[in-house]
Amino acid sequence: MQPTSIESPSSFFDLALHEQLLKAVDKIGYKAPTPVQCQSIPSILADKDLLVSAETGSGKTAAFLLPTIHHLIERPSNKIGLRVLILAPTRELAQQTFGQCQQFSQFSDVTSALITGGEDFKKQQTQLRKNPEIVVATPGRFLELLVQESAVVRNLEVLILDEADRMLDMGFSEDVLSIVDQCNKQRQTLLFSATLTHYGVIKMADKVLKNHKTIALNTLHDGHDNIKQQMILADDYAHKSKLLAWLLLNETYDKALIFTNTRIKADELRGPLRGERLRVGVLHGDMDQKDRNRMMELFRDGTVNIVVATDLAARGLDVKGINLVINYDVPRNGIDYIHRIGRTGRADETGLTVALVNSTEWNIISGIARFLKQQFERRIIKGLESRYNGPKKVKASGKSAIAKKKEEPKKVPAKKVKVRERDKKNIGKRRVPSNKAPVSEVLE
Ligand code: AMP
Repeated sequence: MQPTSIESPSSFFDLALHEQLLKAVDKIGYKAPTPVQCQSIPSILADKDLLVSAETGSGKTAAFLLPTIHHLIERPSNKIGLRVLILAPTRELAQQTFGQCQQFSQFSDVTSALITGGEDFKKQQTQLRKNPEIVVATPGRFLELLVQESAVVRNLEVLILDEADRMLDMGFSEDVLSIVDQCNKQRQTLLFSATLTHYGVIKMADKVLKNHKTIALNTLHDGHDNIKQQMILADDYAHKSKLLAWLLLNETYDKALIFTNTRIKADELRGPLRGERLRVGVLHGDMDQKDRNRMMELFRDGTVNIVVATDLAARGLDVKGINLVINYDVPRNGIDYIHRIGRTGRADETGLTVALVNSTEWNIISGIARFLKQQFERRIIKGLESRYNGPKKVKASGKSAIAKKKEEPKKVPAKKVKVRERDKKNIGKRRVPSNKAPVSEVLE
């Protein structure tokens, strides 16, 4: 399948790839990089960890292979073991990726091998011992080989998890994590998935990526049909708190996660919610690690079934049974929104997310809806209706059409300043001492 659209005018040459790769790309017949290639290649070349949403057909394989092979050519190494490991969910995908890998490296000395189930184990062991630089593998067989050849991933430079969502749906989560555990900790990790709102993918990203960048292409609207997304309008924080308490007291859920944008707000919510006899805990970056771990345990075992958290604290959150996510504060952008809602709606479960939106957050939530290509269901709770009903006029983007007027500074009529005769000759000469008021005031 050919990529559908090429949005960027840049050429492979602009991406500063090694000439051996440019030669290969030219021979294969690629004219220009696809969007996922334009966005991912520079970050991979800059050694960043990435979480990328891209489907088969987008050109994602070249997006991770080209910069990775570029590094292998530019940074020769004589250490033992693999330098790049690519894990793929199926033998077919692994074979295709391996095929592309060979095509791209045809003008270089980069070596690669394919390791999948259904092939001779001993032969694959021998292949591994020959130190190929790149291995494309399916997780099950690679893990079996690692039992005897664990040293091969100790110097790994790049780990690529391709079609991570599919890998997880096929039950490879534990295998993948066992492999990751044995890999060099200083590696670069790239995670590609068709959707970013898959519960397992978010969880996996938390575990395997370091300070990663997220690249979200136009596949965001897919893959979260099992998450119902609602918004409720609110007048102010007091109103939001009433709505929050109502939801937590009336919705059906096993565990709920509430997001605030600040640590202070997270702390402030605890008391009133406990006052409602809810089992609430708080998780944020000001807490020391011991307390955070303790809170996670309580949430996991269900002693606490509601946690109020900030984005950063929730990054490592790995808890089953979260089926309600409430955005007390609307997140600052679409990527944070995806990370938040991705905590619910595991593969076989459904989830509900509710955003509480006040007038200052209208434009942000509209931007998020546009980014996700998704409309949120507007919900009204009887008895807790807001006076705020959204902007009177909206633009095509969904944002408010009424631009906020900048407050004009009040014009204060200039006071006539009487200047004493003896001061007249000093005006313009004298510097005002820094601890005194300006001249005109002194003279009044
Ligand atoms: P993928 O999304 O990696 O499965 O790639 C889908 C198809 O697009 C494969 O047949 C690739 O060879 C092809 N392809 C990848 N990058 C480009 C490009 N820049 N121009 C034309 N075809 C491409």
